[in-house]
Amino acid sequence: MIKIKTLEEIELMRESALVVSRTLGMLAKEVKPGVTTLQLDKMAEEYIRSQDAIPGFLGLYDFPNTLCMSPNEQVVHGFPNKTPLVEGDIISIDCGAIKNGFYGDHAYTFAVGEIAPEIQQLLDVTKESLYKGIREFKAGNRVGDVGFAIQNYCESFGYGVVRELVGHGLGRVMHEDPEMPNYGKRGRGKKFKNGMVVAIEPMINMGTQKIKHHNDGWTITTEDNKMSAHFEHDVAIVDGKPQLLSTFDYVYEALGIKSNEEDEFRVK
Ligand code: MG
Ligand code: MG
Repeated sequence: MIKIKTLEEIELMRESALVVSRTLGMLAKEVKPGVTTLQLDKMAEEYIRSQDAIPGFLGLYDFPNTLCMSPNEQVVHGFPNKTPLVEGDIISIDCGAIKNGFYGDHAYTFAVGEIAPEIQQLLDVTKESLYKGIREFKAGNRVGDVGFAIQNYCESFGYGVVRELVGHGLGRVMHEDPEMPNYGKRGRGKKFKNGMVVAIEPMINMGTQKIKHHNDGWTITTEDNKMSAHFEHDVAIVDGKPQLLSTFDYVYEALGIKSNEEDEFRVK
């Protein structure tokens, strides 16, 4: 059942999302060759707690850490560990926080130092596909419209769109209805209306769409071991239109990136 949020609840959810946005911004300055994902995880946990919030993933479905850290060929749900990041890696950092009883959940894939141009393109296309999906998340459209927009764009670059893992409704529970696949057919699936809040999160592979599940019960990698990227935003429908609750502004500020990609989805 889809839980519709009031405008007051959406404002509380914006606070939760922004805790995660600021956490990702803090981490953006720390992602560099030599740092371990476990060190980043500790920094994130401390930062989230300093914001009167609780790490959203820690203990959820028995996940042992604050961040899902998925380097290179890992798709999502990787564990932080003691292996230092090296120049040329990419690292998907997925972070959750609970504030006011609501979850924020978003993710950014960072470059570690200089990365190859074809890997940068994977990151750029995956992030652009997220905004193409968000544009379709509006009253009257359907779940398939978002998935179609993401899939169509990413496959035009020859990339694989992961099927088994999907975005989701978000609220007092981390995974609410509806499921938000990153593939689909226009005009299919549940209809969107005002007050819906979802996490849209394309997981896009440089090669095959197929993935492997590892024996630790969490880690997921691409079947061909090619790179995989992941970007995620929390979005509400207000006045019929998509409104971003999370933002990459803090990441961009930390990295010195100028971008107007979020402008059309900001509160007017
Ligand atoms: Mg997430
Ligand atoms: Mg999510």
